[in-house]
Amino acid sequence: MSLAPLDPTPQLAAEWLATASAYVVDFLKRLPEAPASDTSDVPALLADAAVRMPPGEQGRALGDLLAVVDRSAAKGLNSASAGYLAFIPGSGLVSAAVADLVSDVLNRYTGMAFPAPGLVALETDVLRWMLDLFGMPQDAMGILTTGGSLAAFSAVVTARSARLPENFLSGTVYVTEHAHQSVAKAVRLAGLPERSVRVVPVDRELRMDVDALRSQVVADRAAGSLPFCVVGNAGTTDSGTIDPLAAIADVAEDQNLWFHVDAAYGGFFQLTDRGCSALQGIERANSIVLDPHKGLFLPFGTGALLVRDGELLRRAHSGGDGHYLQDLGAVDLPSFGDYSPELTRDFRGLRVWLPLHLHGVAAFRAALNAKLDLAEHVHAVLSADPNLAVPWRPDLSTVVFRCATGGDEATLALLNRVNDERRVRLSSTRIGGQVHVRVSILNHRTDLTRIDEALEAIRQHAA
Ligand SMILES: *Cc1c(COP(=O)(O)O)cnc(C)c1O
Repeated sequence: MSLAPLDPTPQLAAEWLATASAYVVDFLKRLPEAPASDTSDVPALLADAAVRMPPGEQGRALGDLLAVVDRSAAKGLNSASAGYLAFIPGSGLVSAAVADLVSDVLNRYTGMAFPAPGLVALETDVLRWMLDLFGMPQDAMGILTTGGSLAAFSAVVTARSARLPENFLSGTVYVTEHAHQSVAKAVRLAGLPERSVRVVPVDRELRMDVDALRSQVVADRAAGSLPFCVVGNAGTTDSGTIDPLAAIADVAEDQNLWFHVDAAYGGFFQLTDRGCSALQGIERANSIVLDPHKGLFLPFGTGALLVRDGELLRRAHSGGDGHYLQDLGAVDLPSFGDYSPELTRDFRGLRVWLPLHLHGVAAFRAALNAKLDLAEHVHAVLSADPNLAVPWRPDLSTVVFRCATGGDEATLALLNRVNDERRVRLSSTRIGGQVHVRVSILNHRTDLTRIDEALEAIRQHAA
């Protein structure tokens, strides 16, 4: 007898859900005390035969399997923790997990509009909400992707197909040294050679030098290259710095460049007054990358791309007709498969739609405002400490600093000592040749209490 029939009885289904829900609730209860990271004894975990077992011929009890999951998740960086301030945090809303559960059980096909028109309409509506947030016109189009990297890939492919001839190897793209690696990767995946990426210098505030951009574009064109795209950062991963987007838009306009904005980190701060004014110019972009799994606190696997001219996105991605699709009727909705590299995909729209409707947009705006407040607080406290150097005022919710004396070695030692306490997890980067520690606040659970714990630890270890 098998312990678990593939299709459970209603009673067994309810038992599984109760077991899973008890586990999740317990996880959430333990979370405030759980370490923000635990990187000890990882080899022992990876060598644990009770964890690394092949599936047996006979099934096992769900509770036992969830215990294996729990043990496996105990090591590494705990991005769900309020103390997770490393890289760009993504925390994961419980409401989105409920949406995933429902959409996985319904398992409707949303790669095309005809098989699930109502559900595709829900996803279309959240995309319209995002497009409206950035003032995109009615013929704009968005897609939900698995993340910012895939969105960047589709953006570059769209820009390439819209602006370059079929022989596109002379195309050039303009970025700063603080652009996320996903941009250069997207350019390479789009078939352009490494030399296509031109790095424009930044000013002392780490923002793109727009005069340098303009002269480089003019010089490259005179030398026979085909400048076609400029990428502005709406929050760099290093320091959360926002490039002068309106000034870049001016250059893009008179140099006939596709203006792409990487807003994977900063985009949803557009919901706040401060963010909206810091991001001015973003509404002139030809394409925008967003990461709802960062700025909307959704689970990993939720990115987005917005394209001003939706028809260009379609032309770059449409697969044409397959005879096996001939039974699909017409519906007055976009088929996502025509606008993205994917066809069959999870119904990820529900994981955006349900939290937005359940909590209301104001809840997200308030959470993002709270992150900006916390970053201002961190900046004020760290700036006042003579043992630390805090070179830049944060544009968004990331503050970078280093030790005032002792160089990179002292800064890295400080980072390690703070992380070793496991209440918070910070990360570091290199800016202007020097190591800087980053405090990046984008977890919906991060509050003033935890931030003050972080500040206390930083100041104490810096002394
Ligand atoms: C996170 C990030 C990306 C990459 O997005 P993924 O979702 O990790 O693929 C791109 N750009 C910036 C600025 C980011 O912060």
